[in-house]
Amino acid sequence: MQIYSICGKLQYEPSLSLQRPFRSPHHSITATAMLGGGRNPLPGEISLAHQGVLFLDELPELKLAVLEGLREPLEERKITINRNLISVSYPCNFILVASMNPCPCGYYGTKQQCKCTQEQIRRYSRKISGPIIDRIDITVPIEYIGYDKLISSQKSETSEKIQKRVEKVRRIQKERYKDLKFQTNAELETKYIEQYCTLARKSQKILENAYQKLQLTTRAYMKILKVARTIADMDESQYIQEQHILEAISYRRKEE
Ligand SMILES: [Zn+2]
Repeated sequence: MQIYSICGKLQYEPSLSLQRPFRSPHHSITATAMLGGGRNPLPGEISLAHQGVLFLDELPELKLAVLEGLREPLEERKITINRNLISVSYPCNFILVASMNPCPCGYYGTKQQCKCTQEQIRRYSRKISGPIIDRIDITVPIEYIGYDKLISSQKSETSEKIQKRVEKVRRIQKERYKDLKFQTNAELETKYIEQYCTLARKSQKILENAYQKLQLTTRAYMKILKVARTIADMDESQYIQEQHILEAISYRRKEE
């Protein structure tokens, strides 16, 4: 709320106190507008998304300075802007949701003909550097949905039902961390990982193998544990079982 007040946007956002923010800036956004800054440093989109969701469509289309500038705030959940002699810190604890095509034309791997060369495809996916991929907990390939499927009457799970499930898991986490400064698995500090992400013996072995085979970074290793903790919470399981750790590993994407 205070962040919006600084930006003078409060009068346009009447329901702010009730709703978490959802920000979806266009991929042509400048680094200053995304991260914050200016003569009198103002908060950027990442801070306007504080405690909510920052949705970035067409991720590789963002300017390199914007993409790389996201690294620190994703890690620190705050950003410090230095301008002349002024140094300002703004919070930016947001959930990053991003989408990208498999190739520049968007048809690679679908029934439609992709017109891109292998080199173009490689260059496109390489725009998302290793350190950025490393900071993304869950990546899911989404298949092309044909028109028949799109209009089919087959019922999928409703948003209300999914919301209930998320709320339940959030409650479990809030209760677990009630004596600590944070409330979610995502915010779990490294020093607490061993205490709260207890692995069943077989799960430990699976993770060890993945660490070596996939040449995971320490950060990726920790993130897998936190995601697995959340999957185990969905199962209301005290320990992280095999299926939880396997699912969490399957969500990792390696740099190509
Ligand atoms: Zn293509």
